[in-house]
Amino acid sequence: MTDASSAAMAKLVEVARDPRVYIEQWRSGHAGRPVLAILPMNFPRELAHAAGALPVIVQDDQQPITEGRALLAEFYCGYTRNLADQVATGRFDVYDGVFQADHCIQLIGSADIVRSLKPDTTVFLGMLNTSMNDPWAPRQVSAMMRRIRAEIEAFTGNPVELGTLRDSIGAYNRDRALIRRLLDERATGNAAFGPVELQDIITSSMVMDPVEHHALLTDVLLEPRRSERDDRVRVHLSGHLCHAPRRELLEVIEDSGAAVVDDDLYHGRRYVSTDVAETGDPVEALGEWYARRNVTIPCPTRVQQDVDWDGYLVDAVRVSAAEAVIHLVPKFCEPHMLYYPELRKRLDAAGIPQLQIETEHEGIPLESFRTRIETLVERARRRRPVHV
Ligand code: SF4
Repeated sequence: MTDASSAAMAKLVEVARDPRVYIEQWRSGHAGRPVLAILPMNFPRELAHAAGALPVIVQDDQQPITEGRALLAEFYCGYTRNLADQVATGRFDVYDGVFQADHCIQLIGSADIVRSLKPDTTVFLGMLNTSMNDPWAPRQVSAMMRRIRAEIEAFTGNPVELGTLRDSIGAYNRDRALIRRLLDERATGNAAFGPVELQDIITSSMVMDPVEHHALLTDVLLEPRRSERDDRVRVHLSGHLCHAPRRELLEVIEDSGAAVVDDDLYHGRRYVSTDVAETGDPVEALGEWYARRNVTIPCPTRVQQDVDWDGYLVDAVRVSAAEAVIHLVPKFCEPHMLYYPELRKRLDAAGIPQLQIETEHEGIPLESFRTRIETLVERARRRRPVHV
C-alpha cells in the first residue's frame, strides 16, 4: 500500500472506532449545521443530508455499560442499553437531535431515555408501517416519507429541495455501490479485505458524509491487495440487525479455521443491499426503497407474506457456496429470537451446518465460542468431497 492509501484506510478505521472525533471535525468545518443521531435501520438519511445536516447512524461504542444499567431493564438488548448509557454519561451530547423510523420496541424504549434525560432535545419517531403487504401500505409509507421531510425541514430550518435530494440520493447510492462491490467480490472468491476491515469500511460510511467516504474508499481501492483464498471453511454470518459484532469475535471466527464469505449483518450486506431510484419523484423513491429493502434482504422486524429470511438465507448460501452459517444473535433481540427457529429448521432441511452464537455487549466468552466454532468448522470440513 502507498502512504496515501494507508492514510485513507487509517482514516476510515479511525472514524469507525471513534465517530465523535469525526463529528467534531465536521462540525468545526460546517458552522451552524446540525448533526443528527439516526437510529437504525429504516430512517432515510438522504432527507437529512439534503437539508444540510450530518446524519450519523449511532454506533454501539463498546464502552462498558455503567449508568445506563439503571435506565433500561436487563432484558433490553446490549445496543439499546449502550445507547441509554451514552445518553446518561454525556457521550450522546455530540448530537443535536434524534431521528428514528419505526424499528423495534426496544429501540423505541432507548429513544424514550433521550426524551426523559434531555427534555430539550428533539426526538422524532416516524412510524413507517411494519406490515408490508396491505393494499394501503405504499400510501402510508409515502405519507410518512413526506412527514419525515417536513420534520427535517422544521428542525434544520432548511427546505429539502428535490434537486438537492436527488444529489444526496446519488451520493449515498455511489457509496453503497462501492461497498457492495467489495462484498460481491468477497462472495465470489476475492479475499482482499478481512471481516474487521470490511466492518470498519461500512461503519465509517454510517458516520461520514457519503461524498467524503466515497473519496477515501476510492483511494483505498486504488492499491493492489493480496486476495488469494485459502482452504478455510467458507461461512455466512447472519443476524446482528443493529450494531456491529465485536471485532474480537470476527477475529476468533477467522482464527478458528473459518473464512467469512458473505453475511446479512446490518454492518454488512444488509446496510448496502438496496439503492434508491434516481429517477422520478425522490420522496416517493425513498418510500419504494423502504419497501424493496425488505425484499432484497428480509428483516424480522417487518411482516411480509411473500418474502422470508430463511428462504433468503438458503439462497444466499448457495450463491456464495458457503459451507456453514453462523447466527450472531444479540442477547434479548426479540425479532431475531422469534425468527431463529424458522431459520434453523430451514437450514437443517437444506443440510447446511449451522451454529448459533448469542452475543452480549460486554463479557462475551470468546474461548468457549472458539471451541464451538472449531467444532462447526470440523463438521463442515467432513462434508467436503473426498478426492481419490
Ligand atoms: S432489533 Fe434487536 S438488536 Fe436491534 S434494537 Fe431491536 S432488540 Fe436490539
